Amino acid sequence: MREVVARWRGEQAVDGGGVRMTRIIGSRRLDHLDPFLLLDEFRSDNPRDYVAGFPDHPHRGFSTLTYMLAGEIAHGDNRGNSGLVGPGGIQWMTAGRGIVHHEYPRQSDGLLWGFQFWLNLPAQEKMCAPDYADIPAAGIPEAPLGDSAVARVLAGEFLGQRGPVNHPVTQPLLVDLRGAYQGRFGLDRDLMASLYVYQGAVTVGEHTLERGDLAELGSGDEVEISMETGSGCLLVCGRPLDEPLARYGPFVMNTQQQIVQAVEDFRAGRL
Ligand code: FE
Repeated sequence: MREVVARWRGEQAVDGGGVRMTRIIGSRRLDHLDPFLLLDEFRSDNPRDYVAGFPDHPHRGFSTLTYMLAGEIAHGDNRGNSGLVGPGGIQWMTAGRGIVHHEYPRQSDGLLWGFQFWLNLPAQEKMCAPDYADIPAAGIPEAPLGDSAVARVLAGEFLGQRGPVNHPVTQPLLVDLRGAYQGRFGLDRDLMASLYVYQGAVTVGEHTLERGDLAELGSGDEVEISMETGSGCLLVCGRPLDEPLARYGPFVMNTQQQIVQAVEDFRAGRL
């Protein structure tokens, strides 16, 4: 049975044009959770916290996945892609060798609530061609979890459902578990496994996690959880790359020389 072996709270951060958020992975407390480089949660019904959005900025060396619970974010990039992510939907973007994009809330009031993950790319794929996909809520498979909970499979395979995002090396498994549930489920023992509670309370083994808690789960091939009514949590799993990391803002590579190259390429307009 996988038990809680470490626990973190996110820290307040301001990013983009001035968006207030909670940085859960990629913070001073938790630099990364291999293969994840970053996890941000933005959740506010005060437009001053989010209207500034994320003006044009570059990325190189990893993939991003944005998952919305409430509100809508519009985005566009220098390769001509544009789209809209709404409640329950995701945007999946592989920056690879480079992309420049912007992301803006398409609302000036009301609740904006969502997450952004950065998933690392293996060394041999960091300079791959960029790729991009919008997946609306209807494109995300759901599996029942007991009688009163549901598992929305964003990435990887869970309870016989295959999510729209997959990667053969990092094997991301991202699942949104919602509702009331008491029981267990299996998890590949080779995956790093963690759980982020975004609503209510979830107990794993002896540990009760509350909203805002991220827990890393130890080795094993099963998880036993108890979710109280109205709870929501994200299962965040993937196969660790165990490769050197060199990171500088929106660029995450393996060596400092590659970071210098990324900055030069961006300044020269080559992304
Ligand atoms: Fe971005």
